[in-house]
Amino acid sequence: MNTILPPSAKPQFAPQNPAMVDGFGRHIRYLRLSVTDRCDLRCTYCMPRDMQFKPRKELLTLDEMDMLAGAFVKRGVEHIRITGGEPLVRGDCLELIDRLMRYKRQGGLKEVTMTSNGTQLTRKADDLARLGVERINISLDTLDADRFAAITRLGRLDVVLAGIDAALNAGLKVKINMVTMADTSLNDIIAMTQWAHGKDMDISLIESMPMAHGKDLEFLSLAKVEADLAKHWHLTPSQHNTSGPSRYIDVEQTGGRIGFIAPMTGNFCDSCNRVRVTATGRLYPCLGHDVFFDFAKVMRRNMANGGDGERALDALVASAMHQKPQAHDFVTAIAEGSAAVTRTMSATGG
Ligand code: SAM
Ligand code: SF4
Repeated sequence: MNTILPPSAKPQFAPQNPAMVDGFGRHIRYLRLSVTDRCDLRCTYCMPRDMQFKPRKELLTLDEMDMLAGAFVKRGVEHIRITGGEPLVRGDCLELIDRLMRYKRQGGLKEVTMTSNGTQLTRKADDLARLGVERINISLDTLDADRFAAITRLGRLDVVLAGIDAALNAGLKVKINMVTMADTSLNDIIAMTQWAHGKDMDISLIESMPMAHGKDLEFLSLAKVEADLAKHWHLTPSQHNTSGPSRYIDVEQTGGRIGFIAPMTGNFCDSCNRVRVTATGRLYPCLGHDVFFDFAKVMRRNMANGGDGERALDALVASAMHQKPQAHDFVTAIAEGSAAVTRTMSATGG
């Protein structure tokens, strides 16, 4: 376990478990659970072309992920988002979702959602809907096939567009995640927004973050994008709130909404309500720091000793809550020309 308290600030409260409240009084109700670090794409802002993936034997098993998710639901988690890597490349991902849905039926959990790159959805969207998934975020940064191929290195735009249609036809509510980079044009953003709203999908713009490997990236300020869009469309603040980091605006001309996820130019850490668990069972209390807690190790050791793992999990959750940093350090990292963290986004589960 890494026990270094990042320097941002000192926590003000002692943790109050079993409900998860961090040292700054923030209630943790949202778990991002990565089921694999593997992916069938290699997006330039996310991972290197020759990405080395974890050996499969290091990943949590289906039973372990189920147990861990249950432990978090018991401690107040209401939303679980399945992510990765690309979650749908893991063979038993749908079985995991099927299992997690029983926590929803039992009352604690409100929803299981997913973030996907869309490549597998023509085959799997119907299953997701059948299992009770209602919403899905699909990542797509451009409608230009050549640019899409350049960004994803291995991807084909037509495959993802067919996946998005399959998700819509299956009855899933789709939100498009568009990472904006220094070379993303306003025309790209306008075209993506018109297309998404034309299909009754929300779209969120995400400032690229300086994770490992992305350290050379410059980012595009969403504050500037919003100002530029306001010259093109009539924008008004939206009442829509997903209890996530997105700030929404309504676009009068398209009748849809745009979410702004702006870690670099907007500060959303005060209302952070989430933690992330990697496919190898590490809990990262903050996307922008390297501090982590090794849940897999503690859980496995305890189970091997015949314990039920509960007390060990309690202690670890309490430590994680106490050491959740106040805020990310992305802006400092950019100013210093380095990545904020030593891991890629795909390893953490974005
Ligand atoms: N493979 C799935 C996908 O692409 O949707 C799920 C995992 S991916 C790591 C989750 C989200 O993180 C995607 O929307 C992706 O665009 C975003 N992402 C990856 N690297 C990023 C970075 N450096 N900055 C901002 N967002 C990033
Ligand atoms: Fe894969 Fe998603 Fe990372 Fe792209 S952003 S490489 S699709 S994990």
